[in-house]
Amino acid sequence: MIEVKHLTKRYGDHLALDDISFTVEDGEIVGFLGPNGAGKSTTMNIITGYLSSTEGEVKVGGVDVLENPIEAKKKIGYLPEVPPLYVDMTVQEYLDFACDLKGVPAANKPDTIEQVCKLTKISDVRKRLIRNLSKGYRQRVGLAQALVGNPEVLILDEPTVGLDPKQIIEVRDLIKNLSKKHTILLSSHILQEVQAVCDKLVIINHGRIVAIDTPEALSRNILQINKLELRIKGPKNAILQGIQDIDGVVNAEIVRIREEGTVDIRVETDDETDVRGEIFQFCARENYPIYMMRTDEINLEDIFLQVTGEREARRR
Ligand code: ADP
Ligand code: MG
Repeated sequence: MIEVKHLTKRYGDHLALDDISFTVEDGEIVGFLGPNGAGKSTTMNIITGYLSSTEGEVKVGGVDVLENPIEAKKKIGYLPEVPPLYVDMTVQEYLDFACDLKGVPAANKPDTIEQVCKLTKISDVRKRLIRNLSKGYRQRVGLAQALVGNPEVLILDEPTVGLDPKQIIEVRDLIKNLSKKHTILLSSHILQEVQAVCDKLVIINHGRIVAIDTPEALSRNILQINKLELRIKGPKNAILQGIQDIDGVVNAEIVRIREEGTVDIRVETDDETDVRGEIFQFCARENYPIYMMRTDEINLEDIFLQVTGEREARRR
């Protein structure tokens, strides 16, 4: 369990963290979400004992990180934003070194290394120099290093930054898998990235927590049913006209033709009306098959607008 209480951090006179508090319960996987410069890495560096705080308290597994950093560090596996890899070492040498740092007894080293390699699927590159590994493999070596000593808590700082889509999926699956046995705090600046894997999201902006909630609750609050995208098969002008005539539609326009014989239309409605049923009825009546209907993707900006908007409303 990670407990962060009233954490404040100043760099000179720049206030990087302003009184932030949150907890990660045992076995939970929590997404730490915020744009660049929000304070994610600063928070993670304090939790892992690599940076001191200006004020506040951090406990990992009940141990105070600031008072008892050595004891606390034993409970933590940390993948920093830029993993501290020694590129002139082989993967094997590097993990051996990581075992020394974590105090793994010599007799247990081979087993430990084999286990973390298996988990992160790097067994086939154990003899290679880290210098010669792809970015995706290096990130997995960083993860393997964090897993040495089987720590109960994992702190992962933007683990998928700079990876290609296939590698992102692999790392995401790996994290999901790890979440069965570890308590995880995972940072990201992309909502979709953490939405799928996390039990809870802690959202930070300008060094302040703006929301803590489940991904479902956060999305539910801001589901944008007033913006739809459709793909419908049939004559494009008749379809556009028919949709424009539906009550509550404020604007409808053709955005592109992706598939032969179909048309992609973006529809905007007033805030009160859900026109999805009407669109279905119209298309069914005219025999225009609907190939796709979806609401706009929610992004971090929408959440910020939502939470700051609520705060404004409460003030009034
Ligand atoms: P994030 O990881 O969310 O992108 P950071 O924690 O790295 O954010 O940074 C938070 C803020 O603190 C930013 O405004 C950044 O410029 C500032 N900052 C980070 N590290 C330092 C430092 N060593 N010295 C001065 N300012 C820093
Ligand atoms: Mg960062």
